[in-house]
Amino acid sequence: MTPSAINRHDESRQLQVVWPDGLDVMVPYRQVRLECHCAHCVEEWTGKPLLDPETVPLDVAIEKLELKGNYAVKISWTDGHDTGLYTWTRLAGITRNDDS
Ligand SMILES: [Zn+2]
Repeated sequence: MTPSAINRHDESRQLQVVWPDGLDVMVPYRQVRLECHCAHCVEEWTGKPLLDPETVPLDVAIEKLELKGNYAVKISWTDGHDTGLYTWTRLAGITRNDDS
């Protein structure tokens, strides 16, 4: 499923993801940051978390949000992390409880 909209809410530091079925979810930026599954944050083969949440500032924000083709969004964070790619499946896993 492809999100109908992805909106930044920098004032409240929340990412809004709207799905075609009408589900409209606000997720705190920091939570999205902590859910990064790139090779720097999660060990590729074991799935072991490599990211220490303590190193992510409470007020982490989005520096840049770019669409990658029609399957993912790339987010550059203010903590300097910019290798995270959030596919629609990944975003569904973060914002939807039913089908991840
Ligand atoms: Zn990452």
